[in-house]
Amino acid sequence: MTHFINKLQLQAELNRCLQCKSQPCMNACPVSCNPREFIAFARANSWPDAVHAITRNNPMGLTCGLICPDKFCMASCTRSRIDFPINIPKIQAAILHAHRTPAESLGIPEPNGKKVAIIGAGPAGMAAASRLVRAGFRIDIFEARKEIGGALNMIPDERLPHGIIEDDWKYIHIPDRMTLHLNAKIENPCALASDFDAVIVATGEPNCTPLRIPGEELSVSYMDYLYDPQKYKTSGNVAVIGGGNVAADCAMTAAALGAASVEMFIRRGISDMKISRKDFLELLEKHIQLNGMTSPVRIEAQNAHKTLWVRKNHFIDGKWIPLDDTTHPLPYFDLIIRAIGSKADQKTDDCANVIYAGDCKTGGSTIVEAISSGLSAAGTIIATLLH
Ligand SMILES: Cc1cc2nc3c(=O)[nH]c(=O)nc-3n(C[C@H](O)[C@H](O)[C@H](O)COP(=O)(O)OP(=O)(O)OC[C@H]3O[C@@H](n4cnc5c(N)ncnc54)[C@H](O)[C@@H]3O)c2cc1C
Ligand code: SF4
Repeated sequence: MTHFINKLQLQAELNRCLQCKSQPCMNACPVSCNPREFIAFARANSWPDAVHAITRNNPMGLTCGLICPDKFCMASCTRSRIDFPINIPKIQAAILHAHRTPAESLGIPEPNGKKVAIIGAGPAGMAAASRLVRAGFRIDIFEARKEIGGALNMIPDERLPHGIIEDDWKYIHIPDRMTLHLNAKIENPCALASDFDAVIVATGEPNCTPLRIPGEELSVSYMDYLYDPQKYKTSGNVAVIGGGNVAADCAMTAAALGAASVEMFIRRGISDMKISRKDFLELLEKHIQLNGMTSPVRIEAQNAHKTLWVRKNHFIDGKWIPLDDTTHPLPYFDLIIRAIGSKADQKTDDCANVIYAGDCKTGGSTIVEAISSGLSAAGTIIATLLH
């Protein structure tokens, strides 16, 4: 399966752009990437300029090209008033995939004598590293897991293969200026503060929200599941508790791995699910059963299966309230995945030169917002230490 549009599709998409002077697509982008500009360069076959127009604002342009949600540039694209928006992320991915060269990593200034520690190698940490190294800083990145990419590694391969993240990293990583320490969990960011001129904490939200119901230990957290779905592969019946993007990824992964049935349990109504129309239709196409207004009550082990007790809810005075006498057992699940949210680690006491970036600062967001936050943290350090 290819993740990229072909040359003909690219050309057709480039030709549809109206080259709007007011650039609404750029204004809607959290990193102010300018589609009008890179599309104009691409139309003129000025590929190095097109590549540079993307990468100067977005060091993870390839990854964003595959998974950036349609709520930013595409939602504001003028072309949708005529027919449908330009598929800007797909254009971006196709340009970088075909035309990015190692020359993109050139132009690193002389070292400025200062060093920065970055905790977390997700999009926020990677983006911060990219900007700082290009301002002459020496960088050490500490990552708790065995690979870069952070939460992006939980996205199913059909949407984002890990190789795409590595491809962006190849252009960010300047080996003699950056050291990546994998399997290196940092318990206390302040402990690093004395060895570095600044520390950026970009640790995301590594704690899954618990269901707080009896029998919870019989379920699997979405993180355990999505980081290693093969480990939990089943041809049986799967329940996913939650109704957002992450829950949808769990459900689609279980279906793709051959589950006989997949059901989602959503506390609110189905129409309140915070997922894109495309993902919603994909759930339906994959015959995933959506149980709206339904909450888990407890989980019990029973012979080979797990019984999920659920109850119905109703909406009164702006609140979701349990509906009396509706608790009932569903005694047929082989795997129950909880995917109702996540939380950042507790912030340590503020140390003078430690700053936060990405999802651990803003709460769960999107790749491009995490990149924007990482770039802005790097900008703060540059402004403070170099001026
Ligand atoms: C299943 C799923 C699907 C998603 N799909 C999309 C999508 O389609 N489009 C989109 O735009 N966004 C999507 N997102 C959201 C996106 O992945 C996040 O917003 C983004 O990754 C946040 O970046 P971050 O760098 O702030 O944190 P993270 O990506 O979470 O990275 C934090 C890193 O810090 C490391 N870390 C944590 N604690 C420590 C420590 N103490 N010491 C050292 N390292 C530590 C973690 O291991 C991790 O690698 C999805 C998220 C999930 C979970
Ligand atoms: S808003 Fe759409 S049509 Fe207008 S310049 Fe941007 S991509 Fe092209």
